Amino acid sequence: MKISVVSPVYNEYEVLPYLLDALPKALVKLTDHYEIILVDDGSTDGSDRVIRERAESDSRIKLVQFSRNFGQQAAITAGLDCVTGDIVVVMDCDMQDPPEMLGPMLDKIHQGYDVVSCRRIGRDGESLFKRWSSTAFYQVMRSGIDHRIPPEVGDFRMYTRRAADGLRAFREQHRFMRGLVAWLGLKEAILPFHRPARAAGQTKYPLSKLVKLAWTAISSSSPLPLKASSYLGAAMLWISACAACLFLIGFFADWNATSNLAWVSFLLGLSGLQMTAIGLLGDYVGRVFEESKSRPLYVVSQVCNIERSPEQPRALWLDTHEAQSAVRIEPRVYGPIVLPSTPRKAG
Ligand code: UDP
Ligand code: MG
Repeated sequence: MKISVVSPVYNEYEVLPYLLDALPKALVKLTDHYEIILVDDGSTDGSDRVIRERAESDSRIKLVQFSRNFGQQAAITAGLDCVTGDIVVVMDCDMQDPPEMLGPMLDKIHQGYDVVSCRRIGRDGESLFKRWSSTAFYQVMRSGIDHRIPPEVGDFRMYTRRAADGLRAFREQHRFMRGLVAWLGLKEAILPFHRPARAAGQTKYPLSKLVKLAWTAISSSSPLPLKASSYLGAAMLWISACAACLFLIGFFADWNATSNLAWVSFLLGLSGLQMTAIGLLGDYVGRVFEESKSRPLYVVSQVCNIERSPEQPRALWLDTHEAQSAVRIEPRVYGPIVLPSTPRKAG
């Protein structure tokens, strides 16, 4: 039995040594046959060098390096595209997903589950806001979007090979892996665990990125926001019809209640709502436009210990042979080129 571990890496120079020590130790307790696929999601801090050093002395450690930052979800997808094991694990590389959980997870796979997910019942080192927003996010997702998404379950999961194959068949650009797992509908076991703080470094999810991920989760799973905006529009139509009646009655009864200010604020509210609805519609149309271009989900520029690029649709693997041992060259802006002045004809 071979276990493949996939872990996305983005500027994790400080934390990688911890992972590369602890993970192989946890894996050898379970099997002699394993691979660790680290997908460098366009790091600029030298994370790839740390991985490369280890990969040179241990062929079970593999590197897939993106040409730029494509995001955690794309990195997980690239890792899944490369796995060769019978069992597949997806975990973060910052030690918040403890390697000690792999044993109990594997037991569940042996009991016949296709997916084993870890639920966070406690979180260390995370702000009150992050914990609160995460709870609210799962509540919204479960009540409005997809009730099959289990609460407080991230990407830390173990899959049978057939489940991983099923997952990588999804090739959409805007992807939320947790939604895709729920959509697949395979037999899933949930193991609670206490999530420790990062071993080192900072979170790579500032508020803006968290909001973007939450919106991708909602909009890629459901057209509900569009429906909600049309319901709101209908409600506003009723309110404005009632207001028009009141206005007419007031006009004939000579009430003083129809103050201009109330009407201005009402109309402003109405146009604000319309703009929001148009914006929502535009966002969905934009996503359809992006999908219609069928661009690759990620671009791989270099690899280490990966024999052959997988033949997956919507994945671009540049010719990595020449680049195997190449040092990463940072982009550089050169000064203007001064051309020699040529004598010009007078007149
Ligand atoms: N990550 C990534 N690309 C990104 C952001 C994050 O590959 O653009 C990786 C990161 O290196 C880590 C995992 O995704 O392995 C989760 O990120 P992080 O620990 O910062 O998220 P948090 O645990 O704070 O929610
Ligand atoms: Mg983390």
